[in-house]
Amino acid sequence: MFRKIFIIIFIFIMSVGLVSSVVVLAPGFSSDPDFSFVADPSPDLSDQDLFENDSSSDSDGSDLSSGLSTHGDSSDHGALHGRIIILDPGHGSDTTNTFQGYNEQVVMLKLAHKIKPLLEANGAFVHMTRKTYDGVTLATRIALTNVWSLTVLRASMIDNAAEIENIDENLSEVERLINIMLNIIIDPEEYSEIYFNTPFSPTAIIHPDLVKIFELQSNPVISDRFLFISLHSNATGRPINTGVHGADVYYASNTHYELSRYFTGYSHPERSIAFGEILLDHIHDVGIQRRSVNRANFFVIREHNLPAVLVENGYHTNQRDRENLMDDEFLDKLAVAYLDAIKTYFADIPLPPIPSDPDVSYIFQDIFDFVNIRNFRVSLNRGPGIKP
Ligand SMILES: [Zn+2]
Repeated sequence: MFRKIFIIIFIFIMSVGLVSSVVVLAPGFSSDPDFSFVADPSPDLSDQDLFENDSSSDSDGSDLSSGLSTHGDSSDHGALHGRIIILDPGHGSDTTNTFQGYNEQVVMLKLAHKIKPLLEANGAFVHMTRKTYDGVTLATRIALTNVWSLTVLRASMIDNAAEIENIDENLSEVERLINIMLNIIIDPEEYSEIYFNTPFSPTAIIHPDLVKIFELQSNPVISDRFLFISLHSNATGRPINTGVHGADVYYASNTHYELSRYFTGYSHPERSIAFGEILLDHIHDVGIQRRSVNRANFFVIREHNLPAVLVENGYHTNQRDRENLMDDEFLDKLAVAYLDAIKTYFADIPLPPIPSDPDVSYIFQDIFDFVNIRNFRVSLNRGPGIKP
């Protein structure tokens, strides 16, 4: 049904010559009933989460300029200039965890909205995998993540076209992979189980196209720039042990027993661990006790190959952690802890050259908008280096 709407909207846009417009003609798909959350049999808190079992143009001053511009002002970039942080506020209206007045999906969204402006004020570009209380499928979140990272790689390839052998072929391949991920975003029911290991099976073999994406994501152009952070709070199993408290960090590694067969080349466990350790120190300092950094097999850290962590910001089944997380001023302090940790993490990582391709801004504006996805698809086939 919504494909039809999509086509009608697209034809309409084409017919009135607004193809490059960013006017929002379609609702964000999380609010489209036909695009609402498809109960994912392997949400990030399912089989793997033993702890949670309760309920621009780059020069025109657009959003992109804060994080990626190489033009104009070059004097006063923030410490996170050129870095791209993906914030994934866990859950959504459909998979939320609640306990004694606490609502994980609401609090984690609030935390993300507090972290985002702090990062932006320091020059980072910030993506959020959901911006509202609506549910967004895990597949959509990670397809977005893969699109965002491949788009930056594509832009970088276009900048360096003269030095890359078989540039057209290589660009076409990256664009093909981006389009696969866009297909998942547009039609997760049809495509997510083809390309992602969901519902998770420890004997499943990773899709060869996802391997290609993972390999591309090991390129420093991506891995030195991106950091993925999924925000959660934890709960003990039943009977609930209210004494258990503190923060944990999880990362994907092929040394995890469930991931040893699925994909054997996660490139960034050391990075993820390093960030996790830094973050736990900062979270501890604001009042949630440091626990540990652990391997895990969650969808949101498994189905891409960026430096990535899933953070349990304390136990909402513990009174003190819960009261902290329900306190707006505490969340402000926690957000600063994230900022400081992210700055420390990136301080020793050289910044890759900033892409100049204006197409990058397209995807950065708001991929939750169908029109932008369609425009981006169109732009892929017209990009420099493809059809000069
Ligand atoms: Zn959670």
